Amino acid sequence: MSIEIRQVSKNFGAFQALRDVSLDIASGELVALLGPSGCGKTTLLRIIAGLETADAGSILFAGEDTTDVHVRERQVGFVFQHYALFRHMTVFENVAFGLRVKPRSQRPSEAQIRQKVHELLGLVQLDWLAERFPSQLSGGQRQRIALARALAVEPKVLLLDEPFGALDAKVRKELRRWLRRLHDDLHVTSIFVTHDQEEALEVADRVVLMNAGQVEQVGTPQQVWDHPASPFVYGFLGDVNLFRGRAHQGELHFHGGQIDSPELADAQDAAASAYVRPHDLDVQRYTPGASGIVVKLARAIVVGPVARLELLPVDGSKTAENAGSDPVIEAQIPAQQFREMGLREGETLVATARQARVFLETGA
Ligand code: ATP
Repeated sequence: MSIEIRQVSKNFGAFQALRDVSLDIASGELVALLGPSGCGKTTLLRIIAGLETADAGSILFAGEDTTDVHVRERQVGFVFQHYALFRHMTVFENVAFGLRVKPRSQRPSEAQIRQKVHELLGLVQLDWLAERFPSQLSGGQRQRIALARALAVEPKVLLLDEPFGALDAKVRKELRRWLRRLHDDLHVTSIFVTHDQEEALEVADRVVLMNAGQVEQVGTPQQVWDHPASPFVYGFLGDVNLFRGRAHQGELHFHGGQIDSPELADAQDAAASAYVRPHDLDVQRYTPGASGIVVKLARAIVVGPVARLELLPVDGSKTAENAGSDPVIEAQIPAQQFREMGLREGETLVATARQARVFLETGA
C-alpha cells in the first residue's frame, strides 16, 4: 500500500516537533527515517500509525485520507525498540494474539490460527521456540518474535521504531540483513526509524534524513551518500572534518592551511566550509612550502588494515572543527602506508584533501 504524507505539522505546546513534512512512499518500499535524537522520527511514525494526530496536514494510505480512520482499522503492524511481548504468554500465544482478538466474524478457526502461527514462526526461523516464554529468549529472538506477531494480522504497512536499538552491535547487524531478506520476500510497505546511519544505508530502499522536525533530504542510500544536500546530511552520514575559511578561485584558505577543490573554481573571496571525510585526507612528511594543512601527529591507532591518525593543527589556532569545537583532525590511511612511512607520534606532517565537499556560506 502506498503512503502519502502531506504537509504534516505537529506541536507539543510551544515546541514544533514536525514542520510541514511531505513524503511519498511507494507500495512495497522499505524506507528508513534517519536523524538525530529529537528530530521528530518517532512522532512522524506515530502519526502514520494513527497513535498521534497531526495539527495540520494529512496522511493518505493508497490514496485515501486516513484522518478519520481509527488505528485499529489502518492495517498497520508495529515493532518497537523495547520488546512489547506479553511476558505471561508463550511465543506461540504472543504471535497468535492479533488473530485471537479479531472481531468474531473475521476470527480464524483454531486450526487456521495454528497453521498461521507456525508459518510465521517458520518465516522468522524460530518455530522451535514456540513453547518458550519471552524471558527465555535472547534479545534478538524477542525482536524476531515481535516482528512475527506484527505480521500475523497481515498488515498493509509495517512500522518499526528502532527495532534493533536495544541489541548489541553483532546481533543488530545480523538482524538488519535478516530484515532486508524478509522484506524482499514479503514486500510489505515498511518504514523504520533509526538514528544509525549505517543501518539506514544498509537496509533501506530509500533514506529520509530528518533534522529539527523537517525533511532535509530523501534518496536512495547511494544518492544521499554521494550527493548530500546539505552540510547537515554530509556530517550525519559519516565522520567528517570541517574547515571554515575563505574561498577564492579553487582554494579554501584558513589559519594553518588550505584545501583545493574544483567546486570552488568560480568562488571570488566567499566564506565557505569544506567537509573532508577522514579517509579522504592523506598525509606526507612536512617540507617547507608544502601546500595543505600543517599538523602534528598526536596519536595513531592501527586497527587491522586501517591507521587512524589524530592530527593537531600546528599553528595552534582553531583551523578545524570535528563535530563542534574539537580541534582534532582525523585522517585514515592504509595501515601499510603508515608502516612504510614509519610515522612517529609528535612528527610534523602535511595533510591534503583528496576530496572535499564544499558548501559556500550564504550571505557572507
Ligand atoms: P529519538 O531518536 O530520541 O527517539 P525522535 O527523532 O524519534 O528522537 P521524537 O520522539 O519524535 O524524536 O520527538 C521529537 C520532539 O518532540 C522531541 O524534542 C520530544 O521531546 C518532543 N516530544 C515528543 N513527544 C512529546 C510529547 N508527548 N510531549 C511533549 N514533547 C514531545
